[in-house]
Amino acid sequence: MKFIELRSDTFTLPTPGMKEAMFSAPLGDDVFGEDPTVLALENKVAAMFQKEAAIFCTSGTMSNQMAITATVSQGQEVICDELSHIYLYEGGGIMANAGASVKLLKGDLGRLSKAQIEAAISPDDIHACESTMVSLENTVNKGGGSVYSSESLEEISSFCRSRNLHLHLDGARIFNAMAVTGQKPSQFGAWFDSISVCLSKGLGAPIGSVLVGDAPFIKKVKRIRKRMGGGWRQAGMLAAAGIYALDYQVERLQEDHRRAKDIAQICSQLSWVESILPVVTNIVIIKIQEGLHSTVKVAELAQKGIKCAPFGAEYIRFVTHLGFDDSDLQLFEEYIQS
Ligand SMILES: *Cc1c(COP(=O)(O)O)cnc(C)c1O
Repeated sequence: MKFIELRSDTFTLPTPGMKEAMFSAPLGDDVFGEDPTVLALENKVAAMFQKEAAIFCTSGTMSNQMAITATVSQGQEVICDELSHIYLYEGGGIMANAGASVKLLKGDLGRLSKAQIEAAISPDDIHACESTMVSLENTVNKGGGSVYSSESLEEISSFCRSRNLHLHLDGARIFNAMAVTGQKPSQFGAWFDSISVCLSKGLGAPIGSVLVGDAPFIKKVKRIRKRMGGGWRQAGMLAAAGIYALDYQVERLQEDHRRAKDIAQICSQLSWVESILPVVTNIVIIKIQEGLHSTVKVAELAQKGIKCAPFGAEYIRFVTHLGFDDSDLQLFEEYIQS
């Protein structure tokens, strides 16, 4: 039986074209700043978002954590939504890496508003924990792939600037957001002080994330990366995969979004499905009927050939990606109805 992999868009494998690009990449020692392919990727992403500088590193977690550590000092706080990846899924890194606190807000499917942020900022008072950074996520993973409108980002950005708060974007799936809204990378570059981008999700690179920001910030981040043992040598083979992904595998995200809607449509007809979060991008989160437990349901689906992820006790998550095509969608329908 062929398994249908829908646990995450991190399961994508390098395509033949990507592998060729990796093999033919010119290489050098990146710790010395001499890997031409790493430099090309960093320059490409910085230019795309119209930021001064960029740094290539292993994972989205590393990019986010380096941004936080470079910006927020011990005893200060990061403001973010309670569903944020930086809070839920990065091993307590805000505290462990930066020695910082976190103020969690309850947004709309993981999206914060300017009014919420304004109300949450600590007063200028020695009793309070100093607010230093606001971190948004777009798309919001745990919000079912929800996206921010330009109006909302514009408002939040000018507010944070007026209060001297660093505005960070966990843009692990920012290209999915742009595929839906038509927003441009340069707009995000103008709204945010720093942005982390994943190359290894829907874009299909085997590994890698890029963090962009101004030059002094990226210099500081580079020191932190080195300190954590994240300085790497001939990383150009991996950077080549990232360049290839950005050149050839961005437009196809639309297909993932279409198939995610199809999955939701198929699931809406199943008796054990209670409801489905709005499907905007490549993530489908379904609420299962009361009395069922997600881990039991996930095991049952695995028996039928569908791999998906429990998302809390009541929810199951499917994520479409490069390795899930229309014939897999047909199989999915067959399997789930069996
Ligand atoms: C996947 C993801 C990350 C980074 O995860 P890594 O596995 O460390 O690359 C960060 N933020 C969000 C929202 C994600 O979905």
